[in-house]
Amino acid sequence: MSMRNGFDAGGGDDHEDDEDRDDGATAGPVEDDGESCPLCGFFNSPAVGDTCSHHRAWVWDDVVEGSPVYDEFAMAWSDFSELASNAEDVAEFADNALGLAESLSLPDALVAYAHWENAPLDVFVELSGAAVGEGWTVSGPLGGTGYCVYLESDERAHAATDGYRALLAAIDPGR
Ligand SMILES: [Zn+2]
Repeated sequence: MSMRNGFDAGGGDDHEDDEDRDDGATAGPVEDDGESCPLCGFFNSPAVGDTCSHHRAWVWDDVVEGSPVYDEFAMAWSDFSELASNAEDVAEFADNALGLAESLSLPDALVAYAHWENAPLDVFVELSGAAVGEGWTVSGPLGGTGYCVYLESDERAHAATDGYRALLAAIDPGR
């Protein structure tokens, strides 16, 4: 995943790592009907509802099927991102938001990742510390490709959601 660090804020863009590129050959997801949870090893098949307790989101052909903790995060992030995108002066908005984040003891990253070109799931993974599965594919006319996202604890995800809500409330109290 590549993140857009929209406002040049918060500790520089150190997300250039491009995952670990395989040396050519057998890269990419394997043909299967699910994948193993990186945390507990349980074989997750979200299409038939067979998932472990760490499962938080399922991406299939770029459509995200989220859990409540992800959906709440995505909503708060989208509201903040939209506000940032619609600001008359984006740089001024970012400065203001960073100042608010500091006064509320919130991480700069919340503001830095508000760029509208980011996918909320990528931001979720980054801010919540989620683990991403290896992915799998299903061939044939009804096939596709996907992966899941897993969390040991929802603590950081909730903190990020609450952080966006606190910023929204501070910037736009009328919401
Ligand atoms: Zn698990």
